[in-house]
Amino acid sequence: DVTATKGNEFEDYFLKRELLMGIYEKGFERPSPIQEESIPIALTGSDILARAKNGTGKTAAFCIPALEKIDQDHNVIQVCIPALEKIDQDHNVVQVVILVPTRELALQTSQVCKELGKHLNIQVMVTTGGTSLKDDIMRLYQPVHLLVGTPGRILDLARKGVCVLKDCSMLIMDEADKLLSPEFQPSIEQLIQFFPANRQILMFSATFPVTVKNFKDRYLPKPYIINLMDELTLKGITQFYAFVEERQKVQCLNTLFSKLQINQSIIFCNSVNRVELLAKKITELGYSCFYIHAKMLQDHRNRVFHDFRNGACRNLVCTDLFTRGIDIQAVNVVINFDFPKNSETYLHRVGRSGRYGHLGLAVNLITYEDRFNLYRIEQELGTEIKQIPPQIDQAIY
Ligand code: ADP
Ligand code: MG
Repeated sequence: DVTATKGNEFEDYFLKRELLMGIYEKGFERPSPIQEESIPIALTGSDILARAKNGTGKTAAFCIPALEKIDQDHNVIQVCIPALEKIDQDHNVVQVVILVPTRELALQTSQVCKELGKHLNIQVMVTTGGTSLKDDIMRLYQPVHLLVGTPGRILDLARKGVCVLKDCSMLIMDEADKLLSPEFQPSIEQLIQFFPANRQILMFSATFPVTVKNFKDRYLPKPYIINLMDELTLKGITQFYAFVEERQKVQCLNTLFSKLQINQSIIFCNSVNRVELLAKKITELGYSCFYIHAKMLQDHRNRVFHDFRNGACRNLVCTDLFTRGIDIQAVNVVINFDFPKNSETYLHRVGRSGRYGHLGLAVNLITYEDRFNLYRIEQELGTEIKQIPPQIDQAIY
């Protein structure tokens, strides 16, 4: 929930008055959760690895500390050695670099910086591939405090010596996991060599696969870690997988029903047809079961949902239709009869149990084809999905 904050105010961070004005003029009244977490920490100079969902205000979470830290009066190194006049005249001292993976994002991010920094005297420059390198070089004869761009172009400018990064104390990587994909990673690693050893690195993303971990270990070994994703949804939920063949799934489910202490369960399938078929099978096995999917009439759906919520039945088979709305505290077990394709869906499904501090259990039936997805989702969510043991301690759910 974007609005569920600790109740901090932007005033609490002792920002420059001009910056505060820009923030309010942009219509931001209070910091969002990711901003509450990252702004004060970034201002201390600590490296940050921050993860938060899309649309929760990550851009301002790094732009605000960047703008606060820039010394607007310090923009040019004067290298006045007459003999070297031609080589080394006035060089820009860029103070902050924001790396993003695309041109559009660079433009958008620079726009946010300009708006927030409207009353500051901070020069923002955008540079990306696909535009004139010569123009960028000319532009760098004027002061630039904050450079937003894609890795390849900034590396070019750094190599040519027109963009001097030796005093650049802050490197921000937005969509960090994308920036560490094979397409960009080599440029990033070379670019980092141009920064001073004491640079601060802020990495933001919604997902952190292993590629990020390797990079983190090398370049920011002790970052302050902010994770606003799995804490909310996966805390208190024990996750298991069971390798099965497709044709063994119903039998496996039957075993689970007989072994688990189910208060209420939600069982997910990947299609409407499979929901109906499975509900029928479960009923045949002698367990009480409702089902719900998008092709049912709204009235009917509402009734089923209402009855399930009231405990009229123990198990609900469904598609992803309702994952986001469902908040039923009695649900202590979620079963992915069909494994989801992406980590966001997984998070939303599994997050149906373990609500408000209750414990929960998630069991994933994994076929041979699902294996790759299982590992990927586990990595993306930075969570652990263990092989199901023969006996499950009832105390954990
Ligand atoms: P993310 O990068 O996390 O996906 P963005 O930084 O693009 O999210 O922000 C999403 C939207 O939220 C933007 O339109 C932005 O202007 C708005 N926003 C960000 N922070 C605040 C805030 N503190 N108050 C109100 N709106 C905000
Ligand atoms: Mg963003």
